[in-house]
Amino acid sequence: MKYYTEPARELPVEGEYDVIVAGSGPAGASAAIMAGRLGAKVLLLEWNNAVGGMSTSGLMSHWTGSVDSPLYTEILERCAAACEGEDRGKVVPWIDPELLKAVWLDLLREAGVTVLLYTFVCGVIKQDNRVTGVVTESKSGRRVFLAKVTIDGTGDGDVAAFAGVEHQKGRETDGKMQPCTLMFKVAGVDIDRAVLPGSFESFYRTEKGELQALAKEHIPAPAGHLLVYKSTLDGIVTCNMTNCTDIDGTHAEELTRAELVCRSQMPAIVKYLRDYVPGFEHCFIISAGSMMGIRETRHFAGRMPAWT
Ligand SMILES: Cc1cc2nc3c(=O)[nH]c(=O)nc-3n(C[C@H](O)[C@H](O)[C@H](O)COP(=O)(O)OP(=O)(O)OC[C@H]3O[C@@H](n4cnc5c(N)ncnc54)[C@H](O)[C@@H]3O)c2cc1C
Repeated sequence: MKYYTEPARELPVEGEYDVIVAGSGPAGASAAIMAGRLGAKVLLLEWNNAVGGMSTSGLMSHWTGSVDSPLYTEILERCAAACEGEDRGKVVPWIDPELLKAVWLDLLREAGVTVLLYTFVCGVIKQDNRVTGVVTESKSGRRVFLAKVTIDGTGDGDVAAFAGVEHQKGRETDGKMQPCTLMFKVAGVDIDRAVLPGSFESFYRTEKGELQALAKEHIPAPAGHLLVYKSTLDGIVTCNMTNCTDIDGTHAEELTRAELVCRSQMPAIVKYLRDYVPGFEHCFIISAGSMMGIRETRHFAGRMPAWT
């Protein structure tokens, strides 16, 4: 590979904060809100055009797991109060991404957090062995923001990697990473008749055949399963059905390949839904994630907390 040596240049120090959070997904946005509530001067940096990460821009269907925290409850309750569908007022795990973006922004604003979108964290400033700030790229150029504490909420550990923290990608044996998925939503679903298997292991027999088997037959591999979830909006269903393997989500070329592969599967998935899945006969795509759903990249060598 050829290399070009970039001339050294002075970068503007754009601001100084108590806490900088890189990445505004559920992890980063929550960290920023809680730091703000504790009185810290906080900057939240996000390279997308919205906050929320996979929970909004990635079109995550619903909250899963056994999370139980006051902030999580607050998010669910605010979404319930603002919901415009039949679930208005009800606390449900299903996500309306545009509504959730507004809820995240309200919580951040109320906590006094400064949000800066369209801003990619591309490096760190280190003093001795400590991260004291970040370098960013954006339409505004290359800039520096300093902080007493820097939190990595990028999902891929970009900040930690830039800081030189030891890590490996993928599984230990061969470095392979889990497949990625571009989530998308379809509208026009007859929810009363719709079959909504929420797991790969949910099997459903129709006159035309078993739905998971038909998905394997009619959708190009490595996709080929039925995984759809209701939403809070009438007739709209979230599809977790595209699939691309052998992707390293920390490389622009591979992220681009993942987008192309997943998008190429979408017409066949919609045809399959219309032809075989009850309730989906008239469905059509209304949106796809504005970020790829990456399940795995870097694993960091952490330090055992003192209390273990
Ligand atoms: C396809 C898929 C479907 C899923 N479905 C569900 C589900 O139904 N229910 C569920 O509970 N969980 C689901 N998950 C898991 C869930 O999405 C994650 O656990 C959660 O999003 C992790 O939150 P996070 O904040 O760590 O990362 P993310 O949500 O990935 O957020 C990271 C944020 O950082 C930003 N960012 C990244 N790099 C930089 C950088 N260098 N500079 C600035 N900004 C940066 C990104 O744009 C993004 O906004 C799913 C995951 C995938 C991949």
